[in-house]
Amino acid sequence: MSADGLKYKRILLKLSGESLAGDQDGGISPRILNYFVQEVKKALDLGVEIAIVIGGGNIFRGISEGAKDMDRTKADDMGMLATTINALALEDAFNREGINAKVLSSVEMPKFADYYTKRSAAEHLNKGTLLILSGGTGNPFFTTDTAAVLRAIEIEAQVALKGTRVDGVYDADPEKVENANKFDELTYSEVLERELKVMDLTAISLANDNQLPIIVFNFNKVDNLKNVVLGKAIGTKVQG
Ligand code: UDP
Repeated sequence: MSADGLKYKRILLKLSGESLAGDQDGGISPRILNYFVQEVKKALDLGVEIAIVIGGGNIFRGISEGAKDMDRTKADDMGMLATTINALALEDAFNREGINAKVLSSVEMPKFADYYTKRSAAEHLNKGTLLILSGGTGNPFFTTDTAAVLRAIEIEAQVALKGTRVDGVYDADPEKVENANKFDELTYSEVLERELKVMDLTAISLANDNQLPIIVFNFNKVDNLKNVVLGKAIGTKVQG
């Protein structure tokens, strides 16, 4: 714990595209955008350095039913573009609240965002800029979960936080199985062996190789993000 009471000074926050839709069928809900801004602001106000990796599932996924006849790399390109649409919406929402937020894209698209490099990301984070990382890893056949772990390692975040709509990782889907049990802690090996739905297995392997802790927590509960960075036992922690 540092002098400012923070357990985590630099974090990578992974948010799914789907969460941005809220109760809509897809697209971006202004109410959810506003909620995201308010929750992230509480952590920024504590002095936490934050990079957000945003998904694209509310708009397009390369592995979706609608893409099944498509060339996979083309479909994944569309998925990566979808994450960029979400990232621009987040950047705008944060900027409207007076928060200095910036999109860095893993795919070159200079009209919309600067290109991601580890160096530029570090410079922005050191200045207190909120980073929104778009375009996933910049490669097809990956997910934004893997991008989140990869970028967390690169920017030397102390933890990758996966914000979800359930309280953590369970032994069965808590939205379908009434008596599903939540884990407070798991090892990477347990997640891999039991194929638990934490993040995809590529992401978990990468976290394991680099000993990056992951916390899966309910981002829909007010103050949860703030409480996680303060070190309260929330969600499920995955580590070695
Ligand atoms: N994607 C990709 N490479 C990456 C990250 C994402 O090709 O490194 C594509 C892929 O098609 C994926 C889509 O972008 O289905 C949206 O990402 P993801 O499914 O991870 O979003 P989320 O489920 O978090 O909303």
